[in-house]
Amino acid sequence: MYDLAIVGAGPAGATLARLLGRRYRVLLLERRDLRRPAGSSLAHKCCGGLLAPDAQKTLGIMGLALPKDVLVEPQLFVVRTIDLQSGQERYYQRFYLNMDREKFDRWLLSLVPDTVDVCCPAMVKEVRREDSLYRLQFLREGETCEAYARCLVGADGAASLVRKRLFAGRNEQKLYAAIQEWFPVQEALPYFSVFFDRRLTDFYGWTIPKGRMLILGAALAPGGNPIAAFGELKRKLAAYGYGLRTVAEGKGLSLSARAMHRTP
Ligand SMILES: Cc1cc2nc3c(=O)[nH]c(=O)nc-3n(C[C@H](O)[C@H](O)[C@H](O)COP(=O)(O)OP(=O)(O)OC[C@H]3O[C@@H](n4cnc5c(N)ncnc54)[C@H](O)[C@@H]3O)c2cc1C
Repeated sequence: MYDLAIVGAGPAGATLARLLGRRYRVLLLERRDLRRPAGSSLAHKCCGGLLAPDAQKTLGIMGLALPKDVLVEPQLFVVRTIDLQSGQERYYQRFYLNMDREKFDRWLLSLVPDTVDVCCPAMVKEVRREDSLYRLQFLREGETCEAYARCLVGADGAASLVRKRLFAGRNEQKLYAAIQEWFPVQEALPYFSVFFDRRLTDFYGWTIPKGRMLILGAALAPGGNPIAAFGELKRKLAAYGYGLRTVAEGKGLSLSARAMHRTP
């Protein structure tokens, strides 16, 4: 029995648990194994890992500074935008912090006080309202467990189970399939690139350098064929000098798809 159950220990859930964990009895449930050594998580987060100025400001307001080992080279302050339909290009300045996204999440989780019950990995399977309480069922080390809480927070990301179960039909979102592929590179590109092409998506594609790797990503409307559109984006980028060579067929590819919010 808890005052508060939080589903998801991404930035939102871990931060809430850190802020409330000493005042209330809090349960934090996370399906990824964020306490094992880096790289061993079963579920990989599909994210570019750029910390935007607003997020930097928020960390500052909370009195936090990033540990050095969360950062990844190169640090970026230039965005290269290309309109693939017109061929127009522009560079502009914007200050991002380039991070290892998994390490960022691990660091935020490490700040949660030990008064919080952290269940990680634990996959929440069901949530429902029972009288004045919320009942949660979750899978932990192969066993189905249960917990009750007076308050429930769904911090379980864009494809939230909590939202689906408790807010069905409300706040409907436009969904995109997000794909990211990692390529080895000889030299890091010194910018974050953004690609626009309405024939492929009304969102955009991007590249982000991460040390000796380059991420190519795109958010694509799931109604069409996102995999084919992603292939087409790769082909178009060859003309702009992006040497995207996969390590070997099927290897070096890190691809996942999830729902995401449409961001301005
Ligand atoms: C392809 C892509 C690239 C992006 N790049 C950037 C970027 O460069 N910079 C940026 O600022 N933002 C980026 N974003 C957005 C960013 O990832 C999100 O805004 C951010 O992760 C939201 O944080 P959150 O804590 O709300 O949710 P998440 O980070 O999604 O955290 C949700 C957590 O809940 C857990 N969870 C989900 N379901 C369950 C369940 N049933 N049981 C237990 N645990 C569960 C997940 O494992 C996860 O850890 C990107 C998004 C996408 C899709």
